Formats: sequence, structure tokens, C-alpha cells
Amino acid sequence: MAGKKYDYIIAGAGLFGAVAARELTDSGKSVLVIDRRSHVGGNVYTEKTEGINVHKYGAHIFHTNDAAVWEYVNRFARFNRFTNSPVANYKGELYSLPFNMYTFNRMWGVVTPEEARAKIEEQKKEIGHEPRNLEEQAISLVGRDIYEKLIKGYTEKQWGRDCSQLPAFIIRRLPVRFTYDNNYFNALFQGIPTGGYTRMVENMLSGIETRLDTDYLLNKEEFDKEAGKIIYTGPIDAYFGYSLGYLEYRSVRFENELLDIPNYQGNAAVNYTEREIPWTRIIEHKWFEFGKDEDGNDLPKTVISKEYSSEWHPGDEPYYPVNDEKNGALYEDYRKLADKEANVIFGGRLGEYKYYDMDQVIARALEVSQKLLTTPA
Ligand code: UDP
Repeated sequence: MAGKKYDYIIAGAGLFGAVAARELTDSGKSVLVIDRRSHVGGNVYTEKTEGINVHKYGAHIFHTNDAAVWEYVNRFARFNRFTNSPVANYKGELYSLPFNMYTFNRMWGVVTPEEARAKIEEQKKEIGHEPRNLEEQAISLVGRDIYEKLIKGYTEKQWGRDCSQLPAFIIRRLPVRFTYDNNYFNALFQGIPTGGYTRMVENMLSGIETRLDTDYLLNKEEFDKEAGKIIYTGPIDAYFGYSLGYLEYRSVRFENELLDIPNYQGNAAVNYTEREIPWTRIIEHKWFEFGKDEDGNDLPKTVISKEYSSEWHPGDEPYYPVNDEKNGALYEDYRKLADKEANVIFGGRLGEYKYYDMDQVIARALEVSQKLLTTPA
């Protein structure tokens, strides 16, 4: 665009921003990426402690069914064969996740898929209609016993809301399987980028001007003068100065501990599904890379993170959009304002207020970039 220093300024160096920056740059556009944080990667950021790549904003396990997205990320990182198999701890009883034959066997002593189905059929009878919320959906899928022990407490801690007040789709993220298979995801491709997500995002941004500790909203007018278009990946309500009110988010707080032992819990993720324990899960980061450094040496220490979920307040980091009806309606109002901002593209989990997984964010960023490149300005 004539007279502008950059074709695009991208606010946010998370996955959406980094992928868009790469695509636009590779098609000859001039791009500046800015981020208010002092690092790139957004919430997938990892930081090395004692040789362990610590997922600083919570565990991220890359998984996708989209071969194009899988090929895309493999251009920027080598992925290991990590498979997510969290363990649920309910008052000291351990269950396999996601809900599968190991879980049903431990819960009811059933051995065959037919026996498991019969148990669930019997328990779901209490919901005689189309599930209207997370509680009814969960009971319909796996029965009341599993709902009470493995879902209710965890979900209410994570979302700070009663399961009857939450949308059903959240629980449909989890597979239910009548096979002995502890793989948490129904995904053709899965793994962790060796060397951490930060390096992967740095590779995506290679050769692209990036300014950290730079807040777009604080200097909006100046940045707008410098760019033909803005790609904004921060919270959509923050962009509009919260003029229509606050969208609700869940935030997460981590208590990280470096322990002088090689193995704390024997698994990357243990979910604490009872209401009484205040954290939702404990992550032991070294197991994302099999307890070894990049040269294959065993790591002598370990880092664990206890994850506490909390309501978001202004100034906190937003993690999860709360996609209930009330917030959905408010988002739609912000969306209408956003549609009037002809030179601004809103993207990513915060920009679109959507519970996207990483692969969906990448697919969306690829799609949006393609559209920008093919639509005349
Ligand atoms: N969930 C649960 N018990 C568990 C794990 C998950 O009830 O042990 C439910 C909970 O409602 C959660 C949802 O499943 O919000 C989605 O879990 P997922 O692992 O996809 O959440 P994320 O990893 O994105 O935080």
C-alpha cells in the first residue's frame, strides 16, 4: 500500500501471528510482528530449565487430522512420537483417560466392550432427551459414575461454573472409546516439537522483523499509520476498549517446582478430578520428551507445574474463552464492530473468542493469509 512502511503489522507473535507472518512474508509482503510480551510463541511458549522444556503457559500437545497442517509444522520443527495419555487421580484411585476400556474396567470391573456399553446404556437412561448442557452430555456419553468421579469436580474447577451451566461441546472434545486405547486424542498425527515450541515459532519468524515488549493497543495510532493492514490476535474486547463490556475468560495460574529427583509422577499429566484438591492437574514437563535431553541423556531433575484455574480479571492473562450463551452473544456484538474495521483482521483464540486447538489456529491462519493474498486490496 502506497506510503506505508509495512504491508502488515501483526499484533501477537503466537501461532496465528507467526503463521500469518511467514505466509505473507514468503509472498513478498513486508511484515512487522509485535508482541507485548518479552518472548514470541504466545501461550505455546516453552522455556528451558535444567535441560527440560517447560511449557510456561500450560501443556501443549500438538495433534491434528489435517495432513497439510502436519506437513506445515514439520517444516519448522522435528516432532517426537509423544502420545498424550493422562491419568486421572480421584481420591487416590487412578483411572486412564480418555474414557476407554481401561477406564470402564477400573470403574465397573467390566471386561468386554459389550459389558461396558450395557453399563453406560443403563446409566444414561436418566437423560431422556437431547443433552442441553455439559452435565447431561457427560452422563449420556459415559454414565453417572464416571461423570461424578472423573468429570464433575475437574470441570467445575476448570471453568468455575456448574456443569449444568456449561455448553455440551466442551466435553465432546474428549473421545469415548470401547477399545483399550489410552491415546487422549483422536488424531492421525501427534507429537511435541523437539527443542520446544519456542524454537518452532522462532523458525517460523526467521528473517521477519519482530519487536517484543511492544503493546499494539498502547500505540495503536502510530502503528496504524505505518501499516496497510493490521492483523490483531489479542482479545477482541480489549481492542474495542471493552466498550460493550467484558467478555469472560478463564485464566490459569501455575506453581512451578524444580525437584531434585528424576521422576515425580511417572507421566506428563495427572488430572486431579476431585473437587477438594485445588489444582486441576500436575504436569511433569520432562515426559513430553521422554525424560531426556536432545542428546538422549537422562535428565537428573524434574520440573512440575500445579495448575490452578481462575476467573479472569483485567490484567490477568486470558487462556480460555467461556463459550456460553451470554458470552457468545456479547462476542457477536463485538464481531459486528470488528466487521466495520476495514483494515483490521482479527485472528486466533483471543481475536475470534474461540476455543481453538493449535492445529485449528494454524489452519485458520493459513486460510486467512491465503485470502489476503488473493483478494485485491
Ligand atoms: N475433562 C474432565 N476430566 C478430565 C479431563 C477433562 O472432565 O480429567 C473435561 C473438562 O470439562 C474439560 C474438558 O473435558 O474442560 C476438555 O478437556 P481438555 O483436555 O480438552 O482441555 P484442555 O487441555 O484444553 O484444557
